Amino acid sequence: MTSKTIHLALYEQIPRFECIEGCSDCCGPVPWSDYELEAAGLNRAPTEREDQVCEFSVKGGCAVYHARPLMCRLYGAVDDLRCPHGRGPLQLLSSERAHDLVRRYKLHTGLM
Ligand code: SF4
Ligand code: SF4
Repeated sequence: MTSKTIHLALYEQIPRFECIEGCSDCCGPVPWSDYELEAAGLNRAPTEREDQVCEFSVKGGCAVYHARPLMCRLYGAVDDLRCPHGRGPLQLLSSERAHDLVRRYKLHTGLM
């Protein structure tokens, strides 16, 4: 399996939901795998701004939303990573399933 296939298979298991337009209240530093950097067309991970927000958080939302990494996809979608504004999917992912996804992500990427 390619790195792309593995990442997409992990992403697919994370329920999707709509964020508040322009919100970046959960956008701090997150790990990026080599595949995720390449998929977003980046040669380095974004840095944290002085306000401790990810540099890709721009007015109107995430500048790389469709290529955001696994940890960004998990926030708000997991039982113990709930959105402070009450957004989230109808069915949150259990913390056990989320931890399993992160374990597999770490195993594949060698990150964290
Ligand atoms: S999950 Fe919640 S806090 Fe994070 S960007 Fe979406 S709406 Fe904002
Ligand atoms: S990559 Fe996008 S979603 Fe992830 S922390 Fe940065 S601005 Fe937020």
